[in-house]
Amino acid sequence: MASLKMIKHVPIAGTLECLTGLRIGGTKDDIEIGGVDNPVIRHLRTRFPYIPGSSLKGKMRSSLEYALGKVGSRGEPCGCGLAGCLVCIIFGPHRNTRHSLGPTRILVRDAMMSVDGNEDPERWIEVKSETAIDRSTGIAGNGSLRQNERVVSGAKFAFDISMRIFEDDDEGTLLGSVRQALTLIEQDYLGASGSRGYGKVKFSFIEPAAWREQT
Ligand SMILES: [Zn+2]
Repeated sequence: MASLKMIKHVPIAGTLECLTGLRIGGTKDDIEIGGVDNPVIRHLRTRFPYIPGSSLKGKMRSSLEYALGKVGSRGEPCGCGLAGCLVCIIFGPHRNTRHSLGPTRILVRDAMMSVDGNEDPERWIEVKSETAIDRSTGIAGNGSLRQNERVVSGAKFAFDISMRIFEDDDEGTLLGSVRQALTLIEQDYLGASGSRGYGKVKFSFIEPAAWREQT
């Protein structure tokens, strides 16, 4: 790219609503002894579930890669680094340090639950007992049940994305690709177990103003 002069940040923000249960797993560090087998990720202090920015960003990237035919033959993220590759411009070329696209254009922050202060975090989480599947055989193993947490439908999270625009960037094209990625997630799913119907979400926008729904 010719110029690395940054012009501005464009905020992309609003509400992500769960239309079905949502499962984004916590790390092992979050698992408490005697707890469920597969907890959802929770904020360490408030105990409310949240959507890590890395989860949302990763799904945006992979959705756009599939739509643009930019997924590698082994399923790896795009690292082409070509000047015309919207995936590499917006998200950064995967494992490619020899490119001239400039910095990653998008910052995706953790999406926190929109709740009032007195609510109980457990109100937004349900536990489903599901038959554990042996991954090697695809067969349910001796009737064992695993307890999986998920965020209940109706939960709302405040998402917050910031887009950096540099002097030579085509702002409309970059923003359009972000909007496309979010629409693709609505058509697909977020988190785990999409084939079981989990993770259907809807985005509504506060910013940019042009993306607010006309009512
Ligand atoms: Zn690329």
